[in-house]
Amino acid sequence: MNAQNFPPIPFLDLKAQQARLGQGLRDRLDAVLAHGQYILGPEVLELEAKLAAFCGAAHCVSVSSGTDALQIALMAEGIGRGDAVFLPAFTYTATAEVPLLLGATPVFVDVDPRNFQIDLNSLQDRIETVKRAGKLKPRAIIGVDLFGQPADWAGINAIAAREGLFTLDDCAQSFGAAQNGVRLGKAADATATSFFPSKPLGAYGDGGALFTESAERAALYRSLRSHGEGTTRYEVLRTGMNGRLDTMQAAVLLAKLEVFESEIARREEIACIYDVALKDVLTTPVRMQGAQSAWAVYSVLLPDETTRDAAKAALAGAAIGHAVYYPRALHQQPAYEAAHDGVSLAVAESLGGRVLALPIHPDLSDEQARRVAATLAQALER
Ligand SMILES: *Cc1c(COP(=O)(O)O)cnc(C)c1O
Repeated sequence: MNAQNFPPIPFLDLKAQQARLGQGLRDRLDAVLAHGQYILGPEVLELEAKLAAFCGAAHCVSVSSGTDALQIALMAEGIGRGDAVFLPAFTYTATAEVPLLLGATPVFVDVDPRNFQIDLNSLQDRIETVKRAGKLKPRAIIGVDLFGQPADWAGINAIAAREGLFTLDDCAQSFGAAQNGVRLGKAADATATSFFPSKPLGAYGDGGALFTESAERAALYRSLRSHGEGTTRYEVLRTGMNGRLDTMQAAVLLAKLEVFESEIARREEIACIYDVALKDVLTTPVRMQGAQSAWAVYSVLLPDETTRDAAKAALAGAAIGHAVYYPRALHQQPAYEAAHDGVSLAVAESLGGRVLALPIHPDLSDEQARRVAATLAQALER
């Protein structure tokens, strides 16, 4: 097969999605242009109600990004200097950045070698280490639903309950995913998601949301996203931030929410094509019992870095989009090394050289998915 004869396969195809959304999207945007309420307009309230209903959460508070959602959730708990926040070492930078911004200390936890999610034994271990050292106060666990798959929330919550810790679900990659038929959104004390364009439910700019079952927390989140305001706009009760979702993004998200379930179903179909075509060639993503993934990322695991790089080169040669999430564990990043106690987190450290993410957007055709798989299989047989 001469791959050069085929058109490129993009990693993401937001143009195809826009064409598929058609007039519905434009009508939503025109409505905002007509009423002109660009900040906290009616679309923002409509979206919050629809997102809460979608995942079955009592409250949804939309915010300016997934990162701000994480920050507001920790600010509301008063987490800061002297506090330990436990989080997986194999995740996007924002998960660790937020506790540091608030003066708290991220405590990096190793991940499970099967699904790369936070490892419960390592979590318990790291909590014991912090308690023994006696310098930091354990306050919170940020569990990350990596790549679209739910983390083990039953396990995380059991540890949090025993240790009296606040749980925050970093669901930036996994809104729409479910465990035993229950969608993420109320698995933890608070859930933060992102509408960055490449996430499963992506806006045309930055955006995010918080979900909680607690009316008190929801009220705090609303205040914090608007400069700590009280019952009137110019009453300042606490130090907050400018963290609102704008009305244009809410309008885009309302149009996208209508097709979101069918997009998740399409991503699942593509995942199945990859699973079948690649299961004898490399390690395909492990599906956890009872979990439905939102398939933000379909990341395969190669035996070593040389093989991974050969696979990357083959995809590049065939103009097939691909990505590496994440080349380096967070405790090994220059910015975060100083916050880490030097403990080795062997699994997180080993993954960066072995992972490879394939295209899985909903506008990928069966034929394209088969070509991605065939290109990889051929490269690995050599
Ligand atoms: C994307 C992402 C974030 C940050 O979301 P933004 O909307 O880009 O700020 C946080 N955590 C994880 C795991 C992410 O993938």
